[in-house]
Amino acid sequence: MSAYRIDPAPGGYVVIHNGSEAAIGIFDWEGAKRFVADATKHTVKPLRIGIDLDECVYPFSRVLGDYITDTTGRKRSQMPAPTRWSFYEDWGYTTEQFLKFFEDAVDKGIMFAEGAPILGSLETLRNLKRDGHTLHIVTDRFVGRRSQELTGYWLQSRHVPFDTLTFAKDKTIVPTDVFIDDKPSNVDALREAGCSAYLYNRHRDDQWQHPALVDSWEAFEQVVDALVFRQQANEQAVEEVPA
Ligand SMILES: [Mg+2]
Repeated sequence: MSAYRIDPAPGGYVVIHNGSEAAIGIFDWEGAKRFVADATKHTVKPLRIGIDLDECVYPFSRVLGDYITDTTGRKRSQMPAPTRWSFYEDWGYTTEQFLKFFEDAVDKGIMFAEGAPILGSLETLRNLKRDGHTLHIVTDRFVGRRSQELTGYWLQSRHVPFDTLTFAKDKTIVPTDVFIDDKPSNVDALREAGCSAYLYNRHRDDQWQHPALVDSWEAFEQVVDALVFRQQANEQAVEEVPA
């Protein structure tokens, strides 16, 4: 039985863990080459990690559904988890009706202020911060009168670690090495700009078959680990082992 735990990671390589310790190497199957880097010689080079909030860290659709139930009495079961970007249409609302609920929920201090972080997000962000990386939140929140104020409040009250917080529609304006976002067009634009962006899988039809999907925060953490060690493998005098 192998002493190593081998975890597949998106991007064509696997991270090899020695027990529960740090990864000891990267096997890169692209180009049929196998590289081994000695983790004990590494000094971790911090990455600038970009983070989207809505539907990645913040449970936007869940809070909106709860708000609609509280204000209209409509059953929560009639508003299922999103299966597409315009999920509110499946709830029976037009774009105008959706935006009215959204704006009212912000102005009443509910949207962006209430709701627990999405499963696994806090733990991963804390781990990444602990590993020395910097965390850069870039969020497209301009609806209502209080979205920025409430965002700051929620991040503080939920103890979400971050280094910078930027409100922008264009996520490429903040320099980042790697990014997690649930919107395909954002991920594509970031990749075009040279960032290793990944699409957080919310199982919506607009995300299907995207080449850079990650299924969980844990998987994203493994991607970051792999990027770090790959960078180190490239910088070291790389030992190439026979395939
Ligand atoms: Mg989002």
